[in-house]
Amino acid sequence: MELWFSEMHTENTKFSIKIKEQLFHANSPFQEIDFFDSEDFGVFFTLDGLMMVNEKDEFIYHDMITHVPMAVNSNIKKVLVIGGGDGGTVRELTRYPSIETIHMVEIDEMVVNACREYLPLTAENLNEPRVSLFFEDGVAFMERQKDAYGLILIDSTDPIGPGEGLFTKTFYQSCYDALKEDGILINQHESPYYTRDREAMIRAHQRIKESFPIAKVYQFHMPTYPSGHWLFGFASKKYDPIEDLDVASWNRFNLQTKYYNTDLHKGAFALPNYVKNALEA
Ligand code: SAM
Repeated sequence: MELWFSEMHTENTKFSIKIKEQLFHANSPFQEIDFFDSEDFGVFFTLDGLMMVNEKDEFIYHDMITHVPMAVNSNIKKVLVIGGGDGGTVRELTRYPSIETIHMVEIDEMVVNACREYLPLTAENLNEPRVSLFFEDGVAFMERQKDAYGLILIDSTDPIGPGEGLFTKTFYQSCYDALKEDGILINQHESPYYTRDREAMIRAHQRIKESFPIAKVYQFHMPTYPSGHWLFGFASKKYDPIEDLDVASWNRFNLQTKYYNTDLHKGAFALPNYVKNALEA
């Protein structure tokens, strides 16, 4: 018998992966968590039936959420990750010896525990001494922070379920207040392609622009997310992601990366016309 995982990318479009076996299933107080093993994507996990992370393409997402801001300001010392329970974003951050403190705020401890067991590829550095984990809602945590971080990475689920509060105007304003004067915010910015994702993308951009003087969007190719075309937002009080790109400083870290490089950095902010038009409308 063949076993398939299917995710509805729209009401009429389905994405399916043939699976070898289901490794884990549980309902946490926040969401339904499933881990599978597959031939093409290795181990992957879903929350409420939506693909989160898999062994095959996670490097793309985690390179792009982390190295883009670090190549703009290589002096970032204190970082906050909201969500990110798989640990992939923290793993990339720990590759920078210059970063002193990494706080990760994940609402669902069960996600972290399951990733430690089934996805060590991403969770491997969550025990690093510079990393502190907080299990609570990122919205409430952020409201208590003022002028505290050089970088905030919102590594969240989509704006449904527990992730909904991470896409609001109030939350983005809390991020602004939690950042230092030279702080950078990177947020999971959904996708331009399918209607529901595009609407979420437009809303997020409008809300971020209300708080931040600099708000740009950049793209990357994520094979297992709806349409494969995904975005992060780059917002800052001070830095422009292209004008302030500091290639020499980033190269001094001498990091081997599988997806990110500083040429791609510049290109990623060059958006297709239909995306630019939607964001500017
Ligand atoms: N790379 C993934 C993507 O874009 O689909 C996201 C990865 S990570 C698994 C997302 C995490 O955000 C989940 O573990 C989820 O529990 C967490 N999360 C959702 N809402 C949250 C909230 N309000 N506060 C903190 N963490 C939250």
